[in-house]
Amino acid sequence: MEKSKVLIIGGTGYLGKRLVKASLAEGHETYILHRAEIGVDIEKVQMLLSFKEQGAHLISGSFTDHQSLVKAIKLVDVVICAISGVHIRSHQILLQLKLIDAIKDAGNVKRFLPSEFGTDPARMEDALEPGRVTFDDKMIVRKAIEDAQIPFTYISANCFAGYFLGGLCQPGKILPSRDSVVLLGDGNEKAIYVDEDDIAMYTIKTIDDPRTLNKTVYLRPPKNILSQREVVETWEKLIGKELQKSSIPKEQFLASLKGLEYAEQVGLLHYYHVCYEGCLTNFEIGNDAIEASKLYPEIKYTTAEEYMKRYL
Ligand code: NDP
Repeated sequence: MEKSKVLIIGGTGYLGKRLVKASLAEGHETYILHRAEIGVDIEKVQMLLSFKEQGAHLISGSFTDHQSLVKAIKLVDVVICAISGVHIRSHQILLQLKLIDAIKDAGNVKRFLPSEFGTDPARMEDALEPGRVTFDDKMIVRKAIEDAQIPFTYISANCFAGYFLGGLCQPGKILPSRDSVVLLGDGNEKAIYVDEDDIAMYTIKTIDDPRTLNKTVYLRPPKNILSQREVVETWEKLIGKELQKSSIPKEQFLASLKGLEYAEQVGLLHYYHVCYEGCLTNFEIGNDAIEASKLYPEIKYTTAEEYMKRYL
């Protein structure tokens, strides 16, 4: 079967650049939207040029120019969007509504993967304000996709390992301490951590796979389903030393949000749902969804322990 041509939007981003790499590695003709708005951001431009050297095509376009998006989309079969969605960095999830309008007009897209790559927003109906904005916006995008009958795959990637393993599941930290750690509650709720390069590879595997059409794909690498305590133990084993442990009870964690910046509150509430409520693991995958490590057993994913070795 001929491999789909892929357009990646947000190809310079934290996840997007990995999607470009995985798409090229899997032999897809890969197009990247090059937005005039990046201006003189030399790092982004150099990154785009290096992708071009590796065989990607750069296509000029802008979210403020509908026809430019339509033109870019017409070149490909599959569109993957990795536009920003982390409030402390940038949150542009609803801009995808413009992309959906362009996909509708282009009329040729066989699969669209919106910028999701986290907690399944459909399971977050009871999420707390203001953190729920991420899930609400992602659901608005899903509704627009489904109303327009655009074929889709939603990737629920769970926790990016760099944020969660790097910081031993502590918000605001992305490097592991060798001395101490604060446990969220009893530290026993299980979460799921996935190497960002593996997220990109699983994502690319889904795009030509009929089994993932109009489905949510959960990434649940079995060895990476761990509680915060287990993450800490893994690190302790690697450094050969026990960390000093303290704990924040749930009520104290929630009270500590008062008066913080909006973006910080959003991020902290995501940690709340993952680490106090176990929102990533407290459900079975239903019939309308599918698990990636079972679909693609040939992918040798990075285990949490392997990932954490990079911090030694
Ligand atoms: P980034 O913050 O790295 O941004 C990605 C890209 O968004 C940028 O490179 C840029 O693309 C594009 N972008 C930013 N602002 C605009 C704008 N105004 N107009 C158009 N494009 C814009 O994103 P991440 O990789 O951090 O996030 C990608 C997805 O992953 C999001 O859905 C996010 O919620 C999710 N995520 C999940 C995490 C988890 O732990 N599960 C953690 C972090 C993110 P360009 O300049 O190339 O056009």
